[in-house]
Amino acid sequence: MPYFIRESIGPAAVLSSRRPMVNDHYLSTYTLGVYVGCEFGCPYCDSWVHTPRTLDETIAVPVDLPQRLRSRLPAIAPGELIGITALSDPYQPAERVHRITRGVLEVLAEQARPALIMTKSPIVLDDLSLLQQMNRSSLALVMTTLLTTDPLLAGRLEARTPSPAARLAMIADLKRAGIPVGVALMPILPYINDNLLSLRTTLTAVARSGADFVVWDYLHMANARHRHRLHDVLARLGTYPPSYYRDIYQEQPTVSQRYREERDREIAAICDDLGLDIRAPHRIYAGKLAPHIEATLILRHAAFRDRVHDRVLLAAHHRELAAAVFDGTYDPADLRRSPLYSLLAPLCGG
Ligand code: SF4
Repeated sequence: MPYFIRESIGPAAVLSSRRPMVNDHYLSTYTLGVYVGCEFGCPYCDSWVHTPRTLDETIAVPVDLPQRLRSRLPAIAPGELIGITALSDPYQPAERVHRITRGVLEVLAEQARPALIMTKSPIVLDDLSLLQQMNRSSLALVMTTLLTTDPLLAGRLEARTPSPAARLAMIADLKRAGIPVGVALMPILPYINDNLLSLRTTLTAVARSGADFVVWDYLHMANARHRHRLHDVLARLGTYPPSYYRDIYQEQPTVSQRYREERDREIAAICDDLGLDIRAPHRIYAGKLAPHIEATLILRHAAFRDRVHDRVLLAAHHRELAAAVFDGTYDPADLRRSPLYSLLAPLCGG
């Protein structure tokens, strides 16, 4: 049982500073963390590295977060999406008691601010009518993480989180209520959930649940302590070759470029077979974000698809154009060179 601390967060820490580039996965330019610490305590979570207290033992409950957010929002341009994604689950069990996430969503709903909520927990369904209200006036997008559909493997990788079946049912419930939903296949753990059978099984379940899109990323090992924690998990799962990290990580915190590109292509091919979008499709955020952010996302997502389908030059063009559109420094002639011109021109004032 974790130890809870109810505390004021002070004026400084409500939102992250504005990102230098909109986040491809989460569509966000700002990030908001609700609780500090996470009762789910997944061993692969990056939060172990970034949270000042032991991740799953002490949970700070920021009692004045909704009020602080209300006074901070006038400084944020409308149409900039806030990702409630940072370092803890906003619907961990503490939310049933403290309802800080609900308070945050009420403030965002009052001001018609677009938001993305990342959670593994069906407690999010308690706020369904609030999410519907938000999604009518701006955008309320929910994302959940799914590593596998195998309950035994999930039990070993993330024992305290809601089961994969519960998360798939949650997606279906959200979709029935008209809420857009994405799935993060994260992290992909080499040798654990990265084989073709596992990827296809998980992605098929995602497609059948009705999710709108999927994104993915690979296990990150920020430092030696995190690496040891993950070694312990792997030791409980099976025997791994001594070259495990040397081959795939090459002493870096993330997987090698070659491994990433091969796996990206495999996953994209499975998603194409299943008709599953590999980034948030434009229909979800069309007319709901600032026009230059919409255009930037269209370009960034196109660049990713171009890269995984080996259209290298077009990928580079779309990536560079996205940066220029985001900064407002693009050359209209570059915009006309894109096959997406007819979609982009109205958003860029053309
Ligand atoms: S639920 Fe999310 S934030 Fe919480 S420990 Fe697991 S990965 Fe980290």
